[in-house]
Amino acid sequence: MSENPYLWIEKSLSTIHQARWYRYPRTIESVSGAEILIEGRLAINFGSNDYLGLSNSDRLKEAATIAIHKLGVGSTGSRLLTGHRELHRQLELELAALKQTEDALVFSSGYLANLGAIASVVGKRDLILGDEYNHSSLKNGAIFSQATPIDYQHCNLADLSRKLEQNRCHYRRCLIVTDTVFSMDGDLCPLPGILELASAFNCMVLVDEAHATGVFGANGAGAVEHFGLTGSPLIQVGTLSKALGSLGGYVAASKQLIEFLTNRAPTFVYTTGISIADTAAALAAIEIVRQEPERRQQLWQNVRYLQELICQEIPTIELLPSASPIICIPLENPERALAAAQKLRDEGIFAPAIRPPTVPTSRLRVSLMATHEKQHLEALVGALRKITDNK
Ligand SMILES: *Cc1c(COP(=O)(O)O)cnc(C)c1O
Repeated sequence: MSENPYLWIEKSLSTIHQARWYRYPRTIESVSGAEILIEGRLAINFGSNDYLGLSNSDRLKEAATIAIHKLGVGSTGSRLLTGHRELHRQLELELAALKQTEDALVFSSGYLANLGAIASVVGKRDLILGDEYNHSSLKNGAIFSQATPIDYQHCNLADLSRKLEQNRCHYRRCLIVTDTVFSMDGDLCPLPGILELASAFNCMVLVDEAHATGVFGANGAGAVEHFGLTGSPLIQVGTLSKALGSLGGYVAASKQLIEFLTNRAPTFVYTTGISIADTAAALAAIEIVRQEPERRQQLWQNVRYLQELICQEIPTIELLPSASPIICIPLENPERALAAAQKLRDEGIFAPAIRPPTVPTSRLRVSLMATHEKQHLEALVGALRKITDNK
């Protein structure tokens, strides 16, 4: 008599429930802007990655529509076979121009760009040193590559240096990997120090600019530009799906590395090319990032206003250290975080509770957009004050 080989699923699900880790997708029933209709209720939206409010921009929608009418919907194949159009190349050249790198390569998502880039540049005989708070795609990229992954303490240069001293000499190549803006904390990696150590220990450096592109730097190129490190020997990965309001990922780097990835990155070679609409929309978004710095300025004005307001109105709240539009309020445990998010929902505010295993400690995560108005931020602080008063 055979047992049911799928029985374990029920047990695993109940463990997830018991730990209060269970999640499900919530339906947004409106355009995703500063205000949304979510599960039948109106809310001010503090959960979006659409930092510049471009995902619903007329220019992106028009660009996507025109391209679809001209070229169809699907790209119909991998980029090296039938999936490549002139639009793809234009997007890559625009990304390289924004980042001021020799070239760029577009992938179907940021996650795939990270997996492909990491697995192409290191292998079995190599070492990866990664920040312990790195995004899932960087951690899984390390596993995919079969290199030896070692985590260093979050943003801790002394720990990185110690681990390089102890380990570097035992491996052929070494890749240091970090988010520039940490997606669940909102702080910045110490990029100048990381580059110095990389140079001292002969390491490559891959930075993930997912939350920085379009947001940081005088031209919106990202944290690399913000730090004055444009032109450094880096592998810059990012996404088209956050501030750029579309979908897809990219690597911006030297011409040689891009040629190499084009031939070797399995998540480029063996997957269907990014869709026509997403490509056209991302192209339009980069143009807006370059032509309309006022959107970025408005975003940063909102960040400053919210921080001031919290500081004045609820001085008892100790925010996690942030240098970005991602602002986190720490809470003791998953139950508290869930209860706080629920209370905010009752006040018409959507700000998700982020819990283990995504992060080591529970928190409310607020992400700001250029399209938030003062009244939205004031409503958030009013609701936060209510829930902290009632603790
Ligand atoms: C969102 C995100 C990604 C993945 O990008 P997608 O285009 O959504 O696949 C990668 N790295 C970081 C840090 C991210 O926040």
